[in-house]
Amino acid sequence: MRFHKAESAFFVFIFVILAAGLVTLHAYVLLQSFAMDLDAPSRLAELNYLNKLLFATGVLLATALSFGIFFIYPLIRSQAREEGKLRAMTVSLSARSETLEQAALTDGLTGMQNRRYFDDALKEYLEEFRRIGKPVGLMILDLDHFKQVNDTHGHDVGDEVLRAVANCLKDMTRYHDVVARLGGEEFAVVTPNMDAELLSKFAERIRRAVANMTVLSGNVRLKVTTSVGLAVWDRKETAEEFYRRADRQLYEAKRQGRNRVCA
Ligand code: GH3
Ligand code: MG
Ligand code: MG
Repeated sequence: MRFHKAESAFFVFIFVILAAGLVTLHAYVLLQSFAMDLDAPSRLAELNYLNKLLFATGVLLATALSFGIFFIYPLIRSQAREEGKLRAMTVSLSARSETLEQAALTDGLTGMQNRRYFDDALKEYLEEFRRIGKPVGLMILDLDHFKQVNDTHGHDVGDEVLRAVANCLKDMTRYHDVVARLGGEEFAVVTPNMDAELLSKFAERIRRAVANMTVLSGNVRLKVTTSVGLAVWDRKETAEEFYRRADRQLYEAKRQGRNRVCA
């Protein structure tokens, strides 16, 4: 058990009173033996008075001691306990708010970043890359006929597929790429330092990896494909305009028959 500063001070107080009490007791006993030897009546009266004084001191000290032990100490103890509880609460609250902040930016199903994170990150990346003058690519993916997966195999299997695609994207992207689930069966990857040619090759690799993936859920073996829309930032458009341009390419990929990349 760790003691509060006030508690330690209290123990010093008790120790001093105890020492004073012991000294008083010692003097009292000594006086008692004195009294046996001296029989002059005046001396005796003096000693008697001293005796009473010492006795009163002893009673006072004992009162102070009991007061300290049975009243002051429990008060200090409960105050220290309250303070400890408060401190623990503050620690857990700040940990909780960190977790909440984290949760607000994370997609619950796949554990990847969510739409909110993506929107902020895209804006930040564009600002940063305007400054350093390097290209930024954007890839938007939407799984093909995903409604059928849910309708045929159930929502849980659908979730399993979404997690598998998320893992595939995480595995294939680089540390500084932003990979997010925008919602439903739609994902996005922001790829800094990629020009149109690199981005197309990268997107094609991802499209193929998703198409080659087999998702196992119970005794169901599933294949999915994805359509991909691409855009490389033209350095003038806003994040929203940039996003819309990539999204139009995604719809173009759907229109052309799905399971393809359009730039
Ligand atoms: P398309 O090729 O045109 O994209 O067809 P699609 O069926 O993929 O598109 P649609 O927008 O019609 O359907 C998307 C489906 O995604 C509908 C919905 O049931 C499913 N979906 C959205 N969010 C989730 C989710 O969190 N879990 C699961 N299992 N399914 C989801
Ligand atoms: Mg879809
Ligand atoms: Mg969709």
